[in-house]
Amino acid sequence: MIPYGRQSIDEEDIQAVVEVLRSNWLTTGPKVGEFEARVSELVEAEHAVAFSSGTAALHGVMFALDIGVGDEVIVPAMTFAATANAVVYQRGTPVFADVLGDTLLIDPAAVETLITPRTKAIVAVDYAGQPCEYERMRDIAQRHGVRLIADACHALGAKYRGKMVGSVADMTVFSFHPVKHITTGEGGMVTTGDMAFEKRMRVFRNHGIPCDHLERRAKGSWYYEMVELGYNYRITDIQCALGISQLKKLQGFVNRRREIASIYDKAFEGLSNITPLAVRDEVRHAYHLYVVRIDFQSIGCDRARFFEESVAKGIGVNVHYIPVHLHPFYRRCFGTSPGLCPVAEKVYEQIVTLPIHPGMSNGDVDTVIGVVTEAVE
Ligand SMILES: *Cc1c(COP(=O)(O)O)cnc(C)c1O
Repeated sequence: MIPYGRQSIDEEDIQAVVEVLRSNWLTTGPKVGEFEARVSELVEAEHAVAFSSGTAALHGVMFALDIGVGDEVIVPAMTFAATANAVVYQRGTPVFADVLGDTLLIDPAAVETLITPRTKAIVAVDYAGQPCEYERMRDIAQRHGVRLIADACHALGAKYRGKMVGSVADMTVFSFHPVKHITTGEGGMVTTGDMAFEKRMRVFRNHGIPCDHLERRAKGSWYYEMVELGYNYRITDIQCALGISQLKKLQGFVNRRREIASIYDKAFEGLSNITPLAVRDEVRHAYHLYVVRIDFQSIGCDRARFFEESVAKGIGVNVHYIPVHLHPFYRRCFGTSPGLCPVAEKVYEQIVTLPIHPGMSNGDVDTVIGVVTEAVE
């Protein structure tokens, strides 16, 4: 089976983890700050705060923004549920914006129409690894006095007009789940240029306590205060050691993903029933996902059958994503229903994610192309 995504771990990664296991610090030790420093350097952001997952990092962002009851946060309909869930964790209201049909990126015109006096932030998702239209999104956010957040869980290593994703929004969230560009098993990070946000997130990930055990020891004191309701969202040194080691290979990983994408692009160029998502000129796409739109009506096969047959042939196709507002939780608790985001809903019926990860050989890529081509012809 060729999975749609998976980690690439080598001996150096394993050694890095083993070293931490033999050290004094399994968590809240030196590797956490080192990993944060490496990521902030890479994405050219001043600050980085690591979390136990990308979802915890999103929650930290919503806390830093002080989202609460009555606050609205605009999110795209086409994303992983965690993007919207983080708003709800803080008792805020996610407001779903439709996406552009050719890229599945948040539609800036749709966002404009959804802004109200209660809007506090917009979360843009760099869907599949392609940066959103940051310039337009920043302009909208500035004009309305709201914050722009990037859910860049798909886009570590991507660029927008020559700038690294991670430095072009008020806060940017990354995930290190095994299917993402680099992995720590579970893990996440927020990068920001704002020191106040950074401070709030550090407190939030540590139970709402502003100093950690190292600072207390340095002061020679046992005393601490819990000043906010925080969580234990800390990442371990074991995970960060893996992250630091993985990060050295990021450039190669992204290059290989881009290479595979260009092989797919060429192979599907002449086929009328299959259309890869559009890629804008001003971006360097990081290809977390390779998504195509298939005209299932023309090929006389529904997606369920295509999916089943592909999996039976060893191709780990997937669908990213079911529009979030269609999930039972959002229908029940926020009254959302079909028709709210018609573009996302229509394109959802056509999309298929094909396998893409650095461990794939050219032979694997050809196998996928063969199976998909046969199905659409
Ligand atoms: C992976 C992902 C997340 C959540 O990250 P985890 O590390 O799995 O918690 C959030 N948003 C998007 C768009 C993602 O792809």
